[in-house]
Amino acid sequence: MMDVYDTIIIGGGQAGLSVGYFLRRHRLYYLIIDDQDRAGGAWLKTWDSLRLFSPVQYSSLSGWMMPRGANEYPTKNEFLAYLEAYENRYNFPIQRPEKVLRTQKENGLFRIETNKQTYYSKTLVSATGSAQHPFIPEYPNQASFEGKAIHSIAYRTPDAFAGQNVLIVGGGNSGAQILAEVSQIAHTKWVTLSEPIFLPEEVDGRYLFHEATNKYLGKEAHAKTNKVSLQNIVVVESVKAARDRNVYHSNRPFHSFYESGVNWPNGEQEEVDAIIWCTGFKSNLQHLTGLDVIENKRIRTNHTRSIKEPHLWLVGYGNWTGFASATIYGVGKTARRTAAEIARSL
Ligand code: FAD
Repeated sequence: MMDVYDTIIIGGGQAGLSVGYFLRRHRLYYLIIDDQDRAGGAWLKTWDSLRLFSPVQYSSLSGWMMPRGANEYPTKNEFLAYLEAYENRYNFPIQRPEKVLRTQKENGLFRIETNKQTYYSKTLVSATGSAQHPFIPEYPNQASFEGKAIHSIAYRTPDAFAGQNVLIVGGGNSGAQILAEVSQIAHTKWVTLSEPIFLPEEVDGRYLFHEATNKYLGKEAHAKTNKVSLQNIVVVESVKAARDRNVYHSNRPFHSFYESGVNWPNGEQEEVDAIIWCTGFKSNLQHLTGLDVIENKRIRTNHTRSIKEPHLWLVGYGNWTGFASATIYGVGKTARRTAAEIARSL
């Protein structure tokens, strides 16, 4: 007899665990498959000094508040410990490390092939995150640059950049926090597409989440302003200290590379030892190509449910799967709705 799951969740980060948390209530036969060897998702691939941009009550997953730490804004390691404890607390059925290579429909079921075995399921949830596949913009002569070039996903500490000329490219939270650190031991220059937006100091992630809640509850009218985006820079301690050191002068992008640096639009050349791309990520959907649902790197959804393949749900990918759904606080609402829809569909 073939073992058929009610649902399989691909991805065991905060989004996958959140769906698992709500599925427990519906007593469904489900499994989470994750390719990391331990809990943490993309948080495992972030820099050591990373601070969350929201206090614990806005950095907790459904059902269990993150224990308060020494600081108002949790550290990366505090959050990793919380995710591990959350997984153990609810004893989720997780297969790891195991990578889903392809998915396809077969006789009305999903056939899910991993690097270890094949599974079958009536429904499928993809929660593979949007912080796995680094996005690096292309510039002329990029291949000729002989300096060090890394993406923020590979950055851990500033030590390797001491005393060097370093370009930090990207105007979001990653760029601001990494620049705050590297600028203390290297000569740095900040490159952003447009003038970066810093949230007012008294405003942090919780404000963004109130926005998320208002949007989710359809209370846009009462939202103070829905111009605020999760790309805006939260002034956490390290960013505040760097701003007091007058670090945040941003330059519009250079024109091209040469062997030992970059050419600016005004024709000036500048020697650069290293570049850190804080330029975000591409959605991580390759494992779904066999389902013929991806159109222009996106999947059309009604909330989190695929329109083209109604037995497929997408959770945690950001605004197209629910405002702030790619954040700790925002993912729970969409996970709850997803679990209820799956239960109703079976
Ligand atoms: P992920 O954490 O990426 O988890 C997806 C899991 O699926 C990973 O374990 C991945 O390895 C696995 N996977 C992927 N493909 C496959 C496959 N084919 N088969 C099996 N497993 C697979 N949010 C906040 O709320 N507050 C913050 O302060 C904050 N700071 C952030 C700072 C950084 C640097 C980054 C990158 C993000 C930050 N976020 C923050 C956003 C968000 O909370 C994280 O990106 C979070 O990791 C998203 O969780 P997720 O479960 O959606 O995806």
